[in-house]
Amino acid sequence: MYDRSAANQRLQSTEYDLVIIGGGITGCGVGRDAARRGLKVAVIEARDVAFGTSSRSSKLIHGGLRYLEQAEIGLVWEAVNERRILRKIAPHLVNEQGFLFPIYKTSPIKLWFLKAGLWVYEALVLFRVHKIHSNFSAKKVADLEPLLATEGLIGSPLYWDCTTDDARLTLETALDARSNGAEMGTYRKVKGFVREGASGEGEIAGVKVQDALTGEEFLVKGRCIVNATGPWSDRTRALFGLQGKKLRPTKGIHVVVDAKRLPVRYAVVLHHPDDGRLLFAVPWGGRTYIGTTDTDYEGDPADVAATRQDVDYLLRSCARFFPKAQLGREDIIATWAGLRPLVSTGAEKESDVSREHEIFEEHEGLLTIAGGKITTYRRMSAEVVDRCLEILAKRGGTATLHPPNTHTSPLPGAVGWSANDDHESMAEKAFEAAQGAIEMDTAQHLVNQYGACGVELAAGLVGKAAASVRLSADRPEVLGVVDWAVRREFAQTLSDVMVRRTQFFFKDADQGLGFVQQVAGRMGELLGWDAVRLASELADYRAEVGLSRAWSAEE
Ligand code: FAD
Repeated sequence: MYDRSAANQRLQSTEYDLVIIGGGITGCGVGRDAARRGLKVAVIEARDVAFGTSSRSSKLIHGGLRYLEQAEIGLVWEAVNERRILRKIAPHLVNEQGFLFPIYKTSPIKLWFLKAGLWVYEALVLFRVHKIHSNFSAKKVADLEPLLATEGLIGSPLYWDCTTDDARLTLETALDARSNGAEMGTYRKVKGFVREGASGEGEIAGVKVQDALTGEEFLVKGRCIVNATGPWSDRTRALFGLQGKKLRPTKGIHVVVDAKRLPVRYAVVLHHPDDGRLLFAVPWGGRTYIGTTDTDYEGDPADVAATRQDVDYLLRSCARFFPKAQLGREDIIATWAGLRPLVSTGAEKESDVSREHEIFEEHEGLLTIAGGKITTYRRMSAEVVDRCLEILAKRGGTATLHPPNTHTSPLPGAVGWSANDDHESMAEKAFEAAQGAIEMDTAQHLVNQYGACGVELAAGLVGKAAASVRLSADRPEVLGVVDWAVRREFAQTLSDVMVRRTQFFFKDADQGLGFVQQVAGRMGELLGWDAVRLASELADYRAEVGLSRAWSAEE
């Protein structure tokens, strides 16, 4: 079990090589890379791992086919190669997904252009792709996706990219960082920084931190500081006295509907009828999600939420391309909204802002990393660590280092995973390990979500009747996943479990409100919550659900 007070002691008494602010995919990626190279690392996160954009993306590990249109070949090359590496180090979490890209007479791109682009897309990884694209006639497309509009349909390629669980990819990156010696300090907010010297005017020497759960304040010493706070980056720069803006955050939302209302066999790529932007409708285990939008955002990143306008924009694309489904606002089970931490480039339109990342060193000893994608996080993180090593070299060097190895080292759930990525055989193992404690769909869910660790989770349920009970008749999760999240995945609050360790918030028909009390009760037993804390955790989760539904009360 995670011991917060012991962790606070370690944070105060250690002199770190690297202190990383932000526990999104970027901060955890930098933490993992640096820890594996042998650096002393702390990751300080104001809330939970993946609280920010890293649990609110489109959940695709993709080369970014659309960037070929903008001739960003370097970006696509990097992304398709990273996709291949992530499939190797996290095959349980990065899953192949077919994408249908229907082209109509009115589409802004021509079918021949798309087909040519797909050859380039596949050639960029020297055809080392899982499956080469194929091309379907309009008639075949109508057979495959009967709800898709057929008027003016010319045909559609089917190409292959990947989907993931963004929050769990971030979490597994954090868990691996921790098992390689990094301190993962969640629910600790950086409030300022400290400099060397009695006058307080020397080099940056660490950060001032407040424990968000206890209020305790302390200093964490580090010789190099990385600002990996995504859309909060400019706010964090301001804590260091840096003026001006580096970012242009843009908001993207998604809506989730029951797959019965919008059944899609493949992910479908759509050009929005209003502005020609690309959207996706993605099958998601009994659900379909549709997204995304791309609009400038100025407010507090923690308050970002879907508006009625955002939701209606997505519904208009469904009305155009899936007219028979007749999706309405009442079909929406959940929404989520996130901010792209894009580097400001002076582009006019939001969707024209480059997705490239950039590393800024505005103070010696402080790096800010912004931009990028989940897909390229590993490579971006390695680049940041290389820059940190240059800084550390100037500041007296470091102990013996290991070569970077994040590209070959599996994430925790991939250790012991089936060599040919066979989810079914892993599910059978989990089912057998549970000795009758769970049903097959739960076993499947456990391995899909936790990889090989799902077999261990299942084995831990033997003889534990209470932990083996389903949380809801409609869901495969059992109460034991709550114990796992607290004991093994440092879940600290109710939202950590409901939103990021599981996907109840997104996938359950009532966003988990029907069984949230039970989850909170079990977390309270494990973490020693009193009645006041329990009530405040429940209120916080209900408020989070309320924010995601606020659009429906707008005029
Ligand atoms: P974040 O995940 O936001 O992490 C920053 C963290 O810093 C937060 O957890 C926050 O709590 C913490 N923090 C802030 N201030 C402080 C402080 N003072 N002290 C301590 N901690 C602090 N990429 C893809 O590859 N594929 C996709 O399909 C995709 N789709 C996307 C769709 C949308 C709508 C959006 C918005 C983005 C998408 N992206 C996608 C991009 C990708 O999600 C982001 O680039 C990535 O998640 C950014 O991660 P990050 O770690 O930099 O930021």
